[in-house]
Amino acid sequence: MEDPSYNRRWSLLSVCFLRQFVALSLSFAVVGCASESVGSAASRSGSSVVLAQQTAQSDAPILSGQMSGQMSGQMSGQSDPLDASVPPAKPEPILPRPLPLPPSTEPVVAIRIETLQLSESVVINHPSGSIRLSPEHPSPSEFECVVKTPVTIQSSADGWRITSARDGNRPSQSRDFSAGELTVRAVANDSKPLSFNGVNWPGKMRIIRTATSIDLVMDVPMESYLPGVIAKELYSSWCQAAYSAQAIAARSFAVVEEARWQGRRHYDMVAGQQSQAWVGSTDNAKAIAAVRETRGQVLVHDGLVVPAYYSSACGGRPANAVGVLTDNPYHDIAPVSTGDHSALRTGCCENFKVATWKLSIPLAQVQARLQRWGGANRRADLAALRTPSSITVEEKHASGRPKFFRITTANGGSVTMEAEDFRRAMNAAGDAKTNLKSCDCHIQIRAGAAEFSGRGFGHGVGLCQHGAQAMGAKGSSFVQILARYYPDTMIVKAWK
Ligand SMILES: [Zn+2]
Repeated sequence: MEDPSYNRRWSLLSVCFLRQFVALSLSFAVVGCASESVGSAASRSGSSVVLAQQTAQSDAPILSGQMSGQMSGQMSGQSDPLDASVPPAKPEPILPRPLPLPPSTEPVVAIRIETLQLSESVVINHPSGSIRLSPEHPSPSEFECVVKTPVTIQSSADGWRITSARDGNRPSQSRDFSAGELTVRAVANDSKPLSFNGVNWPGKMRIIRTATSIDLVMDVPMESYLPGVIAKELYSSWCQAAYSAQAIAARSFAVVEEARWQGRRHYDMVAGQQSQAWVGSTDNAKAIAAVRETRGQVLVHDGLVVPAYYSSACGGRPANAVGVLTDNPYHDIAPVSTGDHSALRTGCCENFKVATWKLSIPLAQVQARLQRWGGANRRADLAALRTPSSITVEEKHASGRPKFFRITTANGGSVTMEAEDFRRAMNAAGDAKTNLKSCDCHIQIRAGAAEFSGRGFGHGVGLCQHGAQAMGAKGSSFVQILARYYPDTMIVKAWK
């Protein structure tokens, strides 16, 4: 958990550090130095301009789902069909926070792009050939410096060991910094992104050592963050209206997450399914245009920003945010709720392949995946699970989607687990071909295999991306798309 005074502390340190630096001039492959205040989250007291009033369209309540058109989407473990990443476990319980007001200025969001083992090295590049490096605890021997790239950063017994590239005839050099965060950014007046692992990341990078890992976190202005989200979320052939609707949903979701985590941990979101997919910098023209067209616009309900969850395909059966994605009672609002009855949604994603699907997984695989998930999640009953003889729906959400599955074994024993956890357990195997697209499915055990018949792709809460594309293809605007999938909301322009 992060110290709540974190940003303030950082700013003070920056000032101290700059004073010290002015008084010093040291050398270590130092080509220059610069000053820059550390960005922090924008204030949020918002004066907002209402752009569009959405009429509550209640063609069907929204019940449970997730993920995105092309791939990922947020929260609740839907996995990218092209990506074998492990879906996330349910987030740890934290005190629920109320939804935020629309921020009056563009927020800077903190995105964790990578978690490395303590023994691993971080290698940073920049097209200019150098980067600026700032220690958290500047001292007479530690100061902001410009270092030749590629720069290798390793955790050492006392802090960090920094090794710069060769510079002409000067060999590569190493230097130690004491413990604390390191900040990496482009040299002054260079807006090109940093490069790590072959990916370009906009913003400035913080390298943070936790008790067990090295976290790489990008602090990036919201509007620079979003294109790399949208580019990953939707297929390139999809229409601009779907892109723009997705941009506003992703921006609203990010505003809520930023408010949720501020002062609680050293990042707001991860680059991945637990939050939103993020590919870093992108040249995807549709994504860039969608973000530009909707700049500063967020979804608001009762004056507060909506946690605009979205998923790939609802399969005609939308889901409720609370109970599926979150236990936060402040998220129990009309835009992401299905009400207390079950109803199928029509005229949505049914013409896409993901609307209904079938899958077969050998029973031994199902058992092994459940055992592994049980072992990793303190479920001794699952860790010791015998061969399943039946898997049935124990309880349903109001939407009609499964809430709990009951797994009965050949010896007569049985265990229950949450349906979303069941999907996480299946998908943790990392085998994209046998990923469960959603937990809205019927399971039959036959001939040594579990045969799944399911609907939709993802958790099904909020925007149905395939449905948004279907609407856009028929000429609906992004305003109409958002009005359908987030009833009882308005679009407001929160910042310029
Ligand atoms: Zn749908």
